[in-house]
Amino acid sequence: MNLVIGVTGGIGSGKTTATDRFQQLGITVVDADQAARVVVEPGQPALGAIAAHFGTGILQADGSLDRAALRHLVFSDPEHRQKLEQLTHPQINEEIRRQLGNSTSAYTVLSSPLLLETNQGKLCDEVILIDAPESAQLARAMARDHNDKAQIQRIMAAQMPRRDRRARADHLVDNSGSIEQLLLAIDKLHAQFLKRCAAF
Ligand code: ATP
Repeated sequence: MNLVIGVTGGIGSGKTTATDRFQQLGITVVDADQAARVVVEPGQPALGAIAAHFGTGILQADGSLDRAALRHLVFSDPEHRQKLEQLTHPQINEEIRRQLGNSTSAYTVLSSPLLLETNQGKLCDEVILIDAPESAQLARAMARDHNDKAQIQRIMAAQMPRRDRRARADHLVDNSGSIEQLLLAIDKLHAQFLKRCAAF
């Protein structure tokens, strides 16, 4: 497998803006959230395992996952949440590995909000943290989603603290400035990674 660069960050930090740039530069971006949706599609083993454990009440009439029912179930009980993770994380990792294996770009980006919290980080050679002050995260996420402030603050409180993320990343991209500055920082990293790939 070629060089895999992880991109992570908290809500509203600028991950998508950064990974869109990598994509524009011709780099394949594997999205862990998308992989998480694939493994619970009808006919996929993780959906069968979830239904076997939690009952068919979490399925809709057409056999697809009732996301609202499942969300309700896992938010009400941390043990349910743990079980769901046990049932899905190995399949998600397998799907991510499959997509990484299909990449033909010079190196590959793995985008995941949970890179540092799960063993998805192990799939990466290096990790970039898109880092912004909490006030900017909040303002940008509110402007984007029209979400209420309390809802975004709850999500931020549940995520890994900024300090811990910063301690674990290999590359820190400061996204406290403009979008143009963020794109420039990504372009610089891209040039570094290409050089490394050429030297392999
Ligand atoms: P989430 O985890 O919530 O999906 P994200 O980390 O993917 O968020 P983005 O969607 O890239 O973050 O950015 C959040 C919002 O902030 C977007 O509307 C984006 O255009 C905007 N944004 C990103 N960086 C900047 C910046 N430096 N200045 C102003 N706005 C920005």
